[in-house]
Amino acid sequence: MIGLLQILGLAESVCLSCGSSFVGKSQGFICDACLESIKPYHPMDYDLKLDYVFSYRIYGLYEGVLKHLIRTIKFQNSKSLALSLGKAIKEHLWEYIEELDPDLITFPPLNLRRFWSRGFNHVEYILKGADVPYMGLFRRIDFSPPLARLNKEKREKAVMGYRIIDSLIDFVEDKKILIVDDLLTTGSTIQRLAYLLMSVGAKEVHAYFIAKD
Ligand SMILES: [Zn+2]
Repeated sequence: MIGLLQILGLAESVCLSCGSSFVGKSQGFICDACLESIKPYHPMDYDLKLDYVFSYRIYGLYEGVLKHLIRTIKFQNSKSLALSLGKAIKEHLWEYIEELDPDLITFPPLNLRRFWSRGFNHVEYILKGADVPYMGLFRRIDFSPPLARLNKEKREKAVMGYRIIDSLIDFVEDKKILIVDDLLTTGSTIQRLAYLLMSVGAKEVHAYFIAKD
């Protein structure tokens, strides 16, 4: 019922970021005023060195509305909020895409447990919201036995929980690849993925993060 009232634009919600009441047509978590308030953060600190990553760009700091948005998308499983966040960062992300001119754009995979409980990959929906063409390149390896069953060549390509989808390994050769992720914390995920891509002959790997923790 709440969902239907929301679609009709009749349900009142309380914004999880600012606490004000609002009527949300597509989602009832974050108000339009908050959504419209997020801006790229300047000057961003790019001191963190990321191995195998040629360059990276960050939209904002993991605080305030941006933090509420990312947390709400993940914990409330809101596809429409992920699309809204994509729309909000679109201009900044596209500036970087036009500067880089990558051959393909991708995103990290969720582990299977997360994927099943959430039902969708939130970064994929953020990319949809930003009208960015993307391609899923990776799989998570959640269970240990299959790794042992891989031959040596495939095992080398399955670095610490991630692997490139078999049928795409040849495809990434010589490609300039941009990986988009939500959060930069230690950088361990992005470095693993970049290493994987470089080890099968990618030309360059770059990264875009929505927020830095
Ligand atoms: Zn608000």
